Amino acid sequence: MRPSSLRVFIDNHPAIHRLVIRWLRWRAKRYPCPFCDIVQGNAPGRVVYQDEWVTAFWDAHPSTSIHILVVPNRHIPTLNDLVPSDKPLCGHLLLVARQLAQEHHLIAGGYSLTTNTGLHAGQTVFHLHIHLKNGGNGT
Ligand code: AMP
Ligand code: ZN
Repeated sequence: MRPSSLRVFIDNHPAIHRLVIRWLRWRAKRYPCPFCDIVQGNAPGRVVYQDEWVTAFWDAHPSTSIHILVVPNRHIPTLNDLVPSDKPLCGHLLLVARQLAQEHHLIAGGYSLTTNTGLHAGQTVFHLHIHLKNGGNGT
């Protein structure tokens, strides 16, 4: 089953949807956040950029030849959890993504920046992140 069909299936079955939500909550409590782990320096080989606000690292299961994740250093689960004082952080995330696109020679050919928010959008890691990929969305 393709991930999108799986999402439609979960959408159409409220009992399964509730179970998935419970499983995600259970997993979040039981296992520490993998992206906080990386921010804290536990996967140094994969990090391509870090400053006091954000960290960028190679996606563990890339869907394109260049697939980098840019994340805030602070644990923010989703876009919905941003607060007004995060405005400078959001701008910084985008500018770092653009800088990485430039460093990886993607400016001329183009690139995509995407953020999945919530289960139905396919968010699987609940630490806000921007996917930087060469090519368009879905390539
Ligand atoms: P999303 O589905 O938008 O939440 O994206 C999560 C992304 O994180 C996926 O592309 C995964 O391949 C990637 N990912 C999950 N765990 C790790 C990890 N430990 N290190 C790097 N990338 C990861
Ligand atoms: Zn985290």
